[in-house]
Amino acid sequence: MSYYGWRPYVPVAARRRQAEKLAAKAAKKGNALLPVSASSGAIAKTFWGRAWCENLERYSDFSNRLPRGRTYLRNGSVIDLKIGEGKVLAQVVGSSLYKVAITVAAVPGKQWQAISAECASSIDSMVELLQGRLSKAVMERICMPGAGLFPAPREIKLDCSCPDWADMCKHVAAVLYGVGARLDQQPELLFQLRKVDAKDLIAQAGAGLPKARKGPAAGKVLDDARIADVFGIEMDTGVAAKQGVAPGTAAARGKTAKPAKLKASSGATAAAKTRKRAVARAAASAKKPRAKRSR
Ligand SMILES: [Zn+2]
Repeated sequence: MSYYGWRPYVPVAARRRQAEKLAAKAAKKGNALLPVSASSGAIAKTFWGRAWCENLERYSDFSNRLPRGRTYLRNGSVIDLKIGEGKVLAQVVGSSLYKVAITVAAVPGKQWQAISAECASSIDSMVELLQGRLSKAVMERICMPGAGLFPAPREIKLDCSCPDWADMCKHVAAVLYGVGARLDQQPELLFQLRKVDAKDLIAQAGAGLPKARKGPAAGKVLDDARIADVFGIEMDTGVAAKQGVAPGTAAARGKTAKPAKLKASSGATAAAKTRKRAVARAAASAKKPRAKRSR
C-alpha cells in the first residue's frame, strides 16, 4: 500500500508542514482553505455521511480503488474541499499538490418528484431531515441505488491533476471520502451538490406549495356542501357556483340566502296561481279536441 511509483515518498509530517504553508498562502490571497479532518474510527458518523460512503462502496467500479483514499484522508492530505452545485473541488497534498475535480449530475426531475412524493408525508421538519432522524422507509428510499439521492457511478465524473491519473487515483478516492466527512458537518451540501431543494422533502413546506393546485378538489367542494348541511344554511348553490362564490362563505350567505327565502314565499303563491291556470288550460284543451272532433 506504500507504493508511490517513481516519485519520492513524502512523510506525513512533511506533508502536514507543506499543507500549513499552502493554507497560510491561500488565506493571504483571501481564499481560505477548507481542510477535511477525519479522526480515527469511521470517517463518517452521521446518517448522511455514512450513507454517502456506503453508496460509493456498494459499486464495484469504485470499491476496489476506494480503500487507499481512507488512509490518505486520515493523514490530513485533503487540505481543501469545497462542495458546490454539481461539483466538488479539492486540493490534495501527496508528493506534490494535486487538484481534484468531481462533477456530480443533478437528480433527474422525475426521480426527485418521486422521492419527494414518497418521503414528504413522513418528514416533519428540516431539523429532522438534516439530523437524519428519519424512518427506516424514508432512509431506504433516499438511499435506493440509482434512484435515490446519492449518485450512481455513471452520474459521477472524476478528474485529478496527478501524473498517474487512471480511473480513480488515491487523491480522488480521498476526496470522495472527504465528501462523506464533510456531510457529517454540513448535510445540506448534499442537496446543493445534487441541485435539489431539501424543502421539497418536508411535509409542511410541501403542503404550502401551489405546484399542483389548479382549483378546489372535488372532495373539498363536497365537504363545503356538507358543512352547509350541518349548519342548516340555505343556499342557492347554483348561483353561488356561477358567480364563483364559495358555498358557505359570508358572500354566499348574505347575498343569496335572504332573497332565496323571499322568492320561496312569493314563489309559493305564484306556483298556486300557475297551478290554477294550468288546471283551467287543461280543462279547456280537453274540451276543444272533442269540439273539433264533433264537427
Ligand atoms: Zn490523483
